[in-house]
This record gives sequence, structure tokens and C-alpha cells, in this order.
Amino acid sequence: MSGNAARVQAIYHITNRKPMTPKAPEQLEKIWAENVFDLKKMQASLSKPVFKSIQKTIMTGEKLDISVADSVATAMRDWATAKGALYYAHVFYPMTNLTAEKHDGFISVQGDGTIISEFSGKVLVQGEPDGSSFPNGGIRDTFEARGYTAWDVTSPAYIMETDNGSTLCIPTVFVSWTGEALDKKVPLLRSIAAMDKAARKVLQLLGNSNIAPVNSSCGAEQEYFLVDANFASQRPDLLLAGRTLFGKAPAKGQEFDDHYFGAIPERVQVYMQDVEETLYKLGIPAKTRHNEVAPGQFEIAPFFEAANVASDHQQMIMTVLKHTAKKHGFVCLLHEKPFAGINGSGKHVNWSVGNATQGNLLDPGDSPHDNAQFLVFCGAVIRGVHKYGPLMRAAIATASNDHRLGANEAPPAIMSVYLGSQLEEVFEQLKTGTVSESKHKGVMDLGLNGVPPLSKDAGDRNRTSPFAFTGNRFEFRAVGSCQSVSGPLIVLNTMLADSLEWVGNRLESELNNGTDLDSAIITVLKEVMELHGNVIFGGNGYSEEWHTMAVQERGLANLPTTADALPVLKEEYIEDLFKKTGVLTPVELESRFEVYAEQYILSIEVESKLVIQMAKTMIYPAAMEYLSKLAATMTSLANLGVSFEKGNAQKIADLAGAMMKTTDELSAALEKHDFASTEEHMKYCAFTLRPLMDQVREFGDALEGEIADSFWPLPTYQEMLFIK
Ligand code: ADP
Ligand code: MG
Repeated sequence: MSGNAARVQAIYHITNRKPMTPKAPEQLEKIWAENVFDLKKMQASLSKPVFKSIQKTIMTGEKLDISVADSVATAMRDWATAKGALYYAHVFYPMTNLTAEKHDGFISVQGDGTIISEFSGKVLVQGEPDGSSFPNGGIRDTFEARGYTAWDVTSPAYIMETDNGSTLCIPTVFVSWTGEALDKKVPLLRSIAAMDKAARKVLQLLGNSNIAPVNSSCGAEQEYFLVDANFASQRPDLLLAGRTLFGKAPAKGQEFDDHYFGAIPERVQVYMQDVEETLYKLGIPAKTRHNEVAPGQFEIAPFFEAANVASDHQQMIMTVLKHTAKKHGFVCLLHEKPFAGINGSGKHVNWSVGNATQGNLLDPGDSPHDNAQFLVFCGAVIRGVHKYGPLMRAAIATASNDHRLGANEAPPAIMSVYLGSQLEEVFEQLKTGTVSESKHKGVMDLGLNGVPPLSKDAGDRNRTSPFAFTGNRFEFRAVGSCQSVSGPLIVLNTMLADSLEWVGNRLESELNNGTDLDSAIITVLKEVMELHGNVIFGGNGYSEEWHTMAVQERGLANLPTTADALPVLKEEYIEDLFKKTGVLTPVELESRFEVYAEQYILSIEVESKLVIQMAKTMIYPAAMEYLSKLAATMTSLANLGVSFEKGNAQKIADLAGAMMKTTDELSAALEKHDFASTEEHMKYCAFTLRPLMDQVREFGDALEGEIADSFWPLPTYQEMLFIK
């Protein structure tokens, strides 16, 4: 098809599509967790001693006895096959932010050739996928590619239903045969353990006696775009890179804010309902849905859960969003910036820490004791963000998130903490040591000598902060929409573990010197503020002034690109942090740097190739066809003696020529392969390839504004964002 024929056909298909009839929503209680082999189902199908044993393993993390595993496996298989599953899969989370699965049948061929359905404890507990195709950052050579998956009993098995059948999925950790973590789950579990240990010591010093294990919680708000599949299939960039590499801004974008919290389009609502039903069956507590700022952009947020489970669930949400979109004729874009000039997508990671005995430790609470405890944990977070801000930045560094961070719509690439004016005032006062009257009226009695009561109202919000306190949790707003939440959670838990360890040691030494608890707390918090108070910022994070002030006056790092941020992983103090907390060995950390850097480089190279392909095979030919039409018309007009301005044709010819010249420069730039280091290669991608890609795009987008619509082959922004 030439010209705009394919586009027109797509619009025809979309506007004439039969609406999917919305099903009446299933009763939540009826479908809730029906596809999860949870404790309730285990209890119903296992003998009492076996159930007790698996329950204990889940609570304490103790090793699973193989005879118990056999019984659990049999019960699990019976449940899954009764629900139509023929296959099981060990699901794991490689370092690439993806979800990986290896499928195996329950089928087992016996010696006499007969076939039985089999699933032993051994295969439930341990699998052996051929891990050689997963990037491992040099931990294993391919010839010893063996990696093992092992069931993470704290995350329940579930059935994933697709149109092609159902599969029993077993969430697993993925480790090398030498025991190194090859995934995102192992370090997450270790980071929780490290934080638990340090937190319990602090809680003890604060006078608590009954202290349950401390875990972190996560509730992640996921933003995404929906584009009709008829359009997306005509855009090589959307198909292969998940974002548009060309596209002129539409006459109307999001200026009117008319999409945000507007009525959800009917077709999207049917989609959302379908997504939610699948999630409910999987025991995932989807809670919030609404339109987002940009046209075609939406959000889904589940209720928060324990970090490890929340992280698995987050991966499942992304999978379900994508699968379900296909069914509804959409493509779900999880990329951070699918459309230039239109708001990007993030994943706000709401994070808190707490346990069964003391509750949420980042919640101010009702008693003076709770409030003092809250300030201590909050102070530990402040110290963590100041000391390890660059690591937080590195944890959200991807080629796609670079389009968001630092742009004037998303949290900046400088890590700071927003506390809200009232809490900020308390910490500022703690710093001077002369705590006086608060200008805020309040009811939160800290019970600390000299610290006035505070109001518990979280009050103001700040959307420009990358890391904001929101009343009883912190919201890491700078996380990318297509990222696994594990990476950010690992960093938050680990830096908090380190800070709590420090706080614990400081408190202990004050107490050992005979200081009373209240004064010890004030002394330690004063010290936190003196050393780390610089990281607190309540102003406009998007402003130029902050960018200058943060770096020049506060000494905070501004790491605008992944090429700037990832090398942080190689710094000695980061290696020390992971080593002393036991979260990552130096080899494991090194491998993460290599894998993330490789992902970054590959993404930019793929995008560069796509830019070249689209410029040469789609945009340039369209320009030439239109030009030849113009030229023919002009020749005919000249023959008739009609005078005609050739300016427009010249402009198109110039733009097309310039685009091809820059495209050739980009092609030549892609030929360079000799780099002294991975760091240098990343810089080359960020500061040579990306700018060239952007230049080609500028010419391409200018051409889109000049060429007759009937010649333009690519679905436009206007069509993709507004036609549903
Ligand atoms: P907003 O858009 O105002 O930031 P939402 O209600 O959309 O808030 O999302 C807030 C997210 O934070 C939800 O996933 C919610 O479950 C989660 N959340 C609430 N309390 C906590 C907490 N104590 N710890 C972690 N996450 C929490
Ligand atoms: Mg939010």
C-alpha cells in the first residue's frame, strides 16, 4: 500500500470495530485468588503435619524438607490439572527487568512406554533452565551455563490462563551453579533480611521488647499508554522499541488537562475490567484505576503488599496488561516516553517498613513513643538518601527512563527528599538543637524534650520531588514505568539497613555513656541533620535554580543520563555497602553493572538502526513521492504559463537532503566498535548516537509538517493518541 492508504484503512477498522460487550463484573469474593495455590488451598489439601511444616517454612524461611515438598507438589499438581493446566513453569526474574519462564509438561514416560502425569517435590523445589541466553554480566561462561531456579516459598504458585491454555507458575529464585544471584529476587530477599536485622536492633534500643520480623511494603502505581493495534502495527518504532522515534506534535496535546481524571473511554473501561478480573483471580489486589495526564495514558495501582510478593505481582500486572491489550485490539506501551512532548509514564513505588508488633515504622502513630520511633526511622531514611542518592539514581537508570528524568514533567535526576513543610520544620529544628514552638498546630506528641507536638495531617504534596514522604510512606516517584520494582526496592532496603545499623550503633554508644533515651535520640537526629540534612528539599524540583543549587551549594549529584549514573555501581563505597549488608557480592554487583550497561547500549543501538530504517525506507520515499507530484504539477503549470512559487518544494527537498545526510552520519557513527571501556561505550551512546538520532528526527518531523497527508505513511500522534 502506498501513501496513507494503510493509515486510512486502520482508521476505518478502528472506527467500525464492534465494541466488546462488557461482561458483568464477577463477584470479587467469588473469584478472588481462585488461580492461586495459597495457604487456604494448601490447608485444605495437605495433611496437618505437612501443612504445618510448609507454613513454618514460609514464615521463617527455613529449608523445605523433601518429603514435605513431595506432598505439596502432588497437591499442587492435582489442583492445577483439575483447573486444566498441562504444563508447569518455573518463573524467574533475570536482571533484564523481564519475567522469564521455562515450561515443562507434567507428562512422564514410564519404562514400559505408558504415560503418567508426574510432578515431584524435587522438580517443584528446583529447576534447571538453560540459563545461557540470559545476560549474566560475565558471572558464567556459556560452557558452564547452568543456572538453577528454586521455589521462593514466600510467593505462592499460581495458574496463568491464556487463550492457549493454562500453566502452573512457580515463582523462583535464579542462581548460578556457584551460588551467585542471577536475578532480581535473591538480592531483594537478602535486602529485606539485612534491613530486618538492623531495624530490630534499633527497635530494641528504643525500648521495645516483643519485636516481630521487619519487612518492607510496596504499592506501585503503574502508568501506561494504550494505542490501537491497527496503528501500532504500522510503526516499526512502536513494535521494536516501544516508543515513537518520529512524530510531529499534534495541534492539541494535553494542554487542556481534559484527559486527567476524565471519564474513562468505554473501550478502555472494558479492557480495564478484563485486566482486573484476571488480577483478582491471581490474588493481586488491583485497587485504583484512572486516566492519566496525557491522552491515551492510564494508571493502575494495586493495594500495597509485602515487598517480595508486591514485586512478583508487579511483574504479573505488566504481563497481564500486555496480554489483555492484545485481546482488546490494543497495544499496551509500558515505555517511559512513548510520545515526545507528551507526558511520560512512571511507576511510583510507595515504600514503607514495618512489622506485626510495632506496625508501620514510617507512620507517626498515636503515642509519644511511636512518634519518636517514627522520627528515628525517618532520620535513617534521610541519611540513606543523602549517602546513597547516586545509587538510587543508578537503580532507575535505563535508556527509556532517561527520556523522563530531567525533563520538565518528571522528577529530576537529582535525588532529594521531600518531607512536607511541617516535618521539614521539625528536622530543621532538630538540627539547631533549639527546638521551639512549631508554627503548625498539631496533635502528634513526640514526647521528646523540647519538641512540640505535630499535626498528623500529611498536608501538602510535591509532585516535583523524586522521593517524597506522603504521610506514612515514601513515594519513589522517579522509577520507570517498565522497570521491575525489585531494583529500587533492593536499594531502598539496603541503604536503610546501612542507616539503621549506623543509627543503632550511635544510639547504643550514647546510651552506654549514660545518656537518657530521649536525649540520645535528639543527639543522633541532630547529627543526621548536620551530616545529611542537605538532601531535604521542599521546593520546585523542576526549576533551573534547584539544579544549580543542588549541585553547587548542596553538593548533590546530578546524573542526567544512564551513562552518568551506572558507573556509580563501580564505586568503592557502593561495593562496601552491598558487601557489608550481604545483599550482593562484588562479583554480583559487577555483573549487574555489565548487564545494565549492555542493555542500555543495545537499546540505543536498536533505536539508531530503527531511525535509519524509518528515515530511509518510509519518510524519505514519502518526501520524494510528494516532491515528484509537486514537480509534475509545477511543470504543467509552467507549460500553461501560470507562475508558481517553488519555495515549498525547495524546503522539502532541503529537509529531505539534510535528513539523509544526518542519517548517513548516524550510520557511520554506528560502525564504531572499539571502546576502551563499557563506560566509554555508554557515553558514546548518550552523547554521540542519541543526539544524532534526535537530529534525524527533527528533520523527519519537520517533513511531516510539510508533506501532504495523503502521502504520509506513519500513523500520526493525533491518530494514535485520540482515536480509540
Ligand atoms: P496517589 O496517586 O495519591 O499517590 P494512590 O492511592 O494512587 O496514591 O496509590 C498509593 C499507593 O500507595 C497504593 O498502591 C497504596 O496501596 C500504596 N500504599 C498506601 N500505604 C502504603 C504503605 N504504608 N506502604 C506502602 N505502600 C502504601
Ligand atoms: Mg502517587
